[in-house]
This record gives sequence, C-alpha cells and structure tokens, in this order.
Amino acid sequence: MKLVLKFGGTSISSAGNIRHVANFINSLSKQHKIVCVFSAITGVTDDLIRITTLIQNRNKDAANNLAKKIIKNHMQISNACVKNSKIRKDLVNKMTVDLSELQELLHGMLLLGEVTPRSSDYLISFGERLSINLVAAALNDLGTKAVALTGKDAGIVTDSNFGEAKPLMDTTRLHVSHTIDAFLEKRTLPIIGGFAGADQHGNITTFGRGGSDYTATIIASSIKADEVWLMSDVDGLMTTDPKIVKNAKVLKEVSYIEAMEMALFGAKYIHPRALEPLVAKKIPLRIRSTFNAKNSGTFVTATPQADAQKTVKCVSAIRHTALIDVRGGSMVGAPGTAATIFSTLAKAGVNVMMISQSPSESSISIIVKKNDLDKAVNALEMNLLGKIIKKVDVTVDVAIIALIGSGMRGIVGVASKVFAAVAKKRVNVVMIAQGSSELNLAFVVKDADCNVAVQALHDEFELAKIN
Ligand code: ASP
Ligand code: MG
Repeated sequence: MKLVLKFGGTSISSAGNIRHVANFINSLSKQHKIVCVFSAITGVTDDLIRITTLIQNRNKDAANNLAKKIIKNHMQISNACVKNSKIRKDLVNKMTVDLSELQELLHGMLLLGEVTPRSSDYLISFGERLSINLVAAALNDLGTKAVALTGKDAGIVTDSNFGEAKPLMDTTRLHVSHTIDAFLEKRTLPIIGGFAGADQHGNITTFGRGGSDYTATIIASSIKADEVWLMSDVDGLMTTDPKIVKNAKVLKEVSYIEAMEMALFGAKYIHPRALEPLVAKKIPLRIRSTFNAKNSGTFVTATPQADAQKTVKCVSAIRHTALIDVRGGSMVGAPGTAATIFSTLAKAGVNVMMISQSPSESSISIIVKKNDLDKAVNALEMNLLGKIIKKVDVTVDVAIIALIGSGMRGIVGVASKVFAAVAKKRVNVVMIAQGSSELNLAFVVKDADCNVAVQALHDEFELAKIN
C-alpha cells in the first residue's frame, strides 16, 4: 500500500521517541510505500507564537531567551538521536544553518518591533522545519534513505491567506506528485514538514493550528495514497472522555462526517479542513497511537460497515462555557434582530458555540467560551441594551454535552431516551439544540452535573459495548 503517516509532536518529544518512531517507520517501509508528515516537537509552535507576542510587546530579552530555549532543545536532541558520527555531524550542520536563519529572522523582526501575518507565518513554520531534520537523520542512521522536505519543498502551493492558508489543489497536486513520486522511485523516504506551504510568490504560509493533519491529507490526495494514518498519543476516537467514564471505548469505525463532528467537539483535535482532500477521493483515514502500535485505532471512511452504524457513537462534553440569555419584547417579529446580535458579537471577536431561539422570538440563548464571556456581555450591553434588547442574563459554568452519530438521523425516540436518562439522574437541562442534519444532539447543563450526565448517557446507549 501507499501510506501517508502523520506524526504529532508528542511522538518526537525526545531523542528516544524519535528513534522509536524511526524504527517503526523503518519496519513499515519494508512492506509499504511510505511518505511521512511531521509536526513540530511538542510545545515548539506554542513557544514560537509566544515569541511573536513578545516581539510585539518589544520584550527583546524574553523573545531571545525563548528562542535560545528552542535552539538548545533541538541541538541536544540532534546530538542524542543519531549514533553514526558522520550522520550526526551532517545533522548538526543542517540544524546550525536552519537555526541561524531563525535567529536572523528574529533579529529582523525585533528591530522592526513588528509582526505581520507574513513574518509570523515564516517564524512559526520553523517548528516543522527543524523537526524533519531530526527524523530524516534518525532514519538515515538506521540505514534507510530519507530526505527532509518542507511543505514548500514538497510542492504545496497555497493562497496568500497567512495564518489560515488554503492549498491551490490543482497546482499542488501537480507539484507534489512530481516531487514525491520521484523520491519514492529512488527508494528515498520523504519526511515532510506539516503545517506550512508557500504561496505563489514563494512566501511561507501556514494552515492554522493543527495544520499538519491537513498537510498529510493534501499530500495523500496528491499522490493518490491508499490510506492516511494520523499517529498521535491517543488510541483513536473514543466513545467519550476516559477521564469521565472509566469504560470508555475506542471506536473501530466512523464516517468522515462523524469524525469531523467528534474532532470539533475536542475528542481528538483534527484540523477542521483536514478531511476535505480525502472525501472526494474516498481515501480512508486511521487514527492510531504511536506508542501502542498493536492497536489498529479508529478507521474513518465514507461508508462504515453496517454494524458500525449505531445510533449514538460518542458522548462529548465541552466544559468552561457560559450561557448568555438575551431578552426583549421588541425582538418579536423584528427581522434582523438575530443578525444584529451576532454581528455585534462577531465584531467583538467572540466565537458563538451554540444558539437557540424560542419560537416566541422573545429570547435568544447563546453559548460562548468562558474566556469570551466578558467581551461578549460588554459588546451586547454597550451596543444593544435599551435598543433591541431589554435584558442580558448570564449563567457561568455550564457544559455542553453532545451526542454524535449518523445513526440518529430519522430514528424516532432518540431525544426522549436522552432526556429521560438525564432526568433520572435529576440533572436539569438548560438549553437544547439539534442541527437539521440530526448528526448531533447537543444540550447544556450546569458544569457540576456534567460528569453524571455523560456517564448516564454512555450507559443508556451501551457505548461500552459498541464494537
Ligand atoms: N505545529 C503546529 C501546531 O502545533 C501544527 C500541528 O501540530 O499540526 O499547531
Ligand atoms: Mg502540534
């Protein structure tokens, strides 16, 4: 098979882990054609983003110190992840070149005291630029020919929307298939840096957080891979959070749409657009653990087998949210009220997570992240109170509970089962929303009731016996 494997940052967080991953790839490459995509080492992208903030605050020393920490960490790992002295020396040389470019860039940005979307992308792309050198060298050390390629080297061409770039798929497909197939023919294993590509002018762009998943699926679609494996530190998508429910299970098979919903609800974060390139070509995806290779993980396909089409597959909880109730008699029958409310929130930079409106139209309930609550309430009160709205009520510490499963569609009685199970535990439901796709049913409870409700639903739908 032709496989694209993507490894997350925790898989390469130490020299030992890098060698482990290199061994895994090495043995897999005996049976399959392999292309790998790597994230930055855990925490490195966060540190690079922190540096951009420090530059903006003109905090030169702190920015330099953080850069020094990144450099030290990579140099230490470089010296420890390769045994052969020639390969190690080449690696250290390559790292020195890349790291001095990083320092020069930082120097320039500090002089200007300015961070543009373009310079920010250039800077934060360094995490992956560095990590691929380590992995390629570790593979060479095992006697497997490997080459480190950035997204740009591999041929990923994007628009110029820095920070949230989208690939120009036709051009990308042409370039990537050309580059990668040539390496595969030479029996050289491509080790590609995730998260970044370059626009048509050659400027480095990034896909947004978690973007290495997206890189992997873009590459897979370009080279017509048979499967993509997302390798991380979890065993797969789960029926619920194992921290809440002890007998939570790894799901064997889910559909693309279900995986998308589950990813959005934070079970295992997947880049929101990562599945797009796979859907058209029906390339299946596996979500597996680097540290537990025996477990085959979760298989994500267009059409899961019939026995995997259970009504409800997953109960997710999103904590740290708050509820805002907006009321007012003049909201009734007034077109544009909702639009005004939501554009006010959007202008304040508040992301709305869930909405419901009563048919009487006299109130709208909105769920936002707790961090956004003050911003949201301020914006609503300053702009709209006394005009279209009369009252803004707030409830802090609520949790969204979402049930996900495409088998809910068109099945009578799911909602009654859900609310009866929750009522039996004397948990009060504050708000309910279901999209018309019927793929997910979400409701809100007090945060203190969250664990009880999740456990009750996991039991009610017998999710511990799902596979
Ligand atoms: N390193 C990037 C991030 O942390 C991309 C990724 O890990 O997928 O967001
Ligand atoms: Mg990451």
